[in-house]
Amino acid sequence: MLLGYSSGSFMAHYNHCASKILYRDNYECVYCNSSEDIAIDHIIPISQRFKYGLPSGRMVNNDGNLVASCRLCKQKRACKDICSFFEENPGFKENFFIKARYAADWVLESTGLKDEKHEYLSRIRIGGLEEVIKEGALETILGQN
Ligand SMILES: [Zn+2]
Repeated sequence: MLLGYSSGSFMAHYNHCASKILYRDNYECVYCNSSEDIAIDHIIPISQRFKYGLPSGRMVNNDGNLVASCRLCKQKRACKDICSFFEENPGFKENFFIKARYAADWVLESTGLKDEKHEYLSRIRIGGLEEVIKEGALETILGQN
């Protein structure tokens, strides 16, 4: 074999990695929440790896660049970069920030999403805290005075 493994064992390896990612992401699309027809999506598409300064294919296939996505979203996205995809589907970005917890920092940094993700998450964390205070639950947590 030219590459040192048969295409059969390559597929077995691919399926193993894919099921690991799907399990990790709870078998739900990180863009639209669907749990139907789930596949794997590259946050930075393989075809655009040079644009994002990733010289090796291995980086693109790193777990931190892979997410669970339904086939419908994959079709919609096609080869678009992630930011244009989010511009066209604004609701998907917030889902992605919450659900794609394992997206690597270097991926978010090269796509320009890193700061936005942190801002978004701290905003909803503060929002959650305000809810707790409004409902008087904080006193309960702090031990009622
Ligand atoms: Zn989807």
